[in-house]
Amino acid sequence: MPELPEVETVTNALRPHLVGRCITTVETHTAQLRTPVVVHQHPEICGATITAVRRRAKYILVELDRRLVILVHLGMTGSCRIVTAAAPSVDHEHIIVYLDDGMTWRYRDPRRFGMFELHPIGKEEVIPECLAAFGPEPLAAEFTAEYLRDVCRQRQKPIKNLVMDNACVVGVGNIYASEALYRARIHPGTPAARLSAARCDRLVTAVRQVLQDAIDAGGTTISDFQTVDGSEGKFSRHLDVYGRAGEPCHACSRDLRRVVMAGRSTFYCPACQRY
Ligand SMILES: [Zn+2]
Repeated sequence: MPELPEVETVTNALRPHLVGRCITTVETHTAQLRTPVVVHQHPEICGATITAVRRRAKYILVELDRRLVILVHLGMTGSCRIVTAAAPSVDHEHIIVYLDDGMTWRYRDPRRFGMFELHPIGKEEVIPECLAAFGPEPLAAEFTAEYLRDVCRQRQKPIKNLVMDNACVVGVGNIYASEALYRARIHPGTPAARLSAARCDRLVTAVRQVLQDAIDAGGTTISDFQTVDGSEGKFSRHLDVYGRAGEPCHACSRDLRRVVMAGRSTFYCPACQRY
């Protein structure tokens, strides 16, 4: 499943191909992804110019003039590619956006858990309303140790579940939550309220580092834009704990463990990570 670093990589790869381009037409080959596909029916989509491409949480926001934004979520298996209009379609290519330079932006998604929606942007807002309740970006200046400590206060739920909650901080998925807690030496089951200021500080630093490392790896690994699909485990060689139950901890050599928390596999070192 594409996580925040993969979505950031796709966003950065799309941007130079899309910004400044005018959409000439939109063709759809499915009526339904996670939500109904009606983007092609909007009267103002054709002729709209793309003004910005950015990421918020795990969404790609393609902003148009006319106060509209295309909201893309890659779901489990979504991917994007930029090819000429003459390029043949491939299986599961559900949406083709034709651009005024003879190129097309194509969305493919075999399992159809993704999203490709058109939203109006409110007068003052720069984000669609449906993203308004999200917490800060993990790499943004607002995500500080003080902020995390405030959110943790009086919350008894395990810190791992809190870090994965979009209302606390967006886009920290299951793999990166395990990795960040390992780097911060915090047991994933620790009740959030028990975290000291110093441990909140370590965790914020670790979350930022893990995500930035993965983004950097994606930026250097993915040279062929057509292979950007987030499903190839490109970052697996950077993982310290995720998927390594029974293998030795890199720091202390004890066997790493796996537990299930909130239905998700969670990996940790029983010696290095404390409650
Ligand atoms: Zn260890």
